[in-house]
Amino acid sequence: MNAREGADYPSRRPERSIEVGAVKARCWSGGPGQAKLGAFPALADLMANPLARAKYAFSAHALKQLPPDDGREVAFAGRSNAGKSSSLNALTNQHGLARVSKTPGRTQALNYFEVAPGRHLVDLPGYGYAKVPEEMRERWKEFINVYFHTRQSLAGLVVVMDIRHPLREYDLQMLDYAFERQLPAHCLLTKADKLGRGEQGNTLLKVRKALGERASVQVFSGESKLGVEEARAVVARWLEL
Ligand code: GDP
Repeated sequence: MNAREGADYPSRRPERSIEVGAVKARCWSGGPGQAKLGAFPALADLMANPLARAKYAFSAHALKQLPPDDGREVAFAGRSNAGKSSSLNALTNQHGLARVSKTPGRTQALNYFEVAPGRHLVDLPGYGYAKVPEEMRERWKEFINVYFHTRQSLAGLVVVMDIRHPLREYDLQMLDYAFERQLPAHCLLTKADKLGRGEQGNTLLKVRKALGERASVQVFSGESKLGVEEARAVVARWLEL
């Protein structure tokens, strides 16, 4: 029986439909014995979190493998171990989502996750800092460079930084790419649960001051879920979800 279709609930006509991405849900008004949204955990999550439908779509190893440039996508960048996978998992509320990006063969690719038709989260490789041969590193730099300068679908950049080590060379490089084409950028100072409130606030102020108008900044934790709603709202707005 499909609970989402309300097959096990009273057979009276639904009062209205709600569209959440590709899912159409029938809702009943309250009252004894009638279905409420709380009875549909998956649906309730979809309504609360527009990124919850994310699923791995494909990996692009070269520019010609990118999908047609007519949708909307938000790119996620972060140095290796910064907490990017955990952030993507927290934003989509899916524990294993970004594991895909660590699969051998996909670590040096743009990994696309579809959240709605034509709307994607794109996990960028942390090129330049991985232990890869110089020639491959240069090729990747060029790929990312061209991607940033030509990709019309790109609606925003999220830079994930360990709150204890923000604004490293890689982060600044990625923010430069965004700035050069006036792409909105948002920084997640993640692993904030590792610091006290005072230190979190101090780092937030420092990073905000350093970046000025170039990017918005927030504290975040994939572990404690601090700041998850705020970050989701930014990404959902960029994707026009
Ligand atoms: P990635 O290489 O940037 O994708 O980093 P991961 O998401 O795999 O995280 C690297 C390590 O940091 C893992 O051991 C995670 O468990 C840990 N980690 C990631 N996010 C957080 C966080 O918000 N808080 C804490 N305490 N640990 C985190």
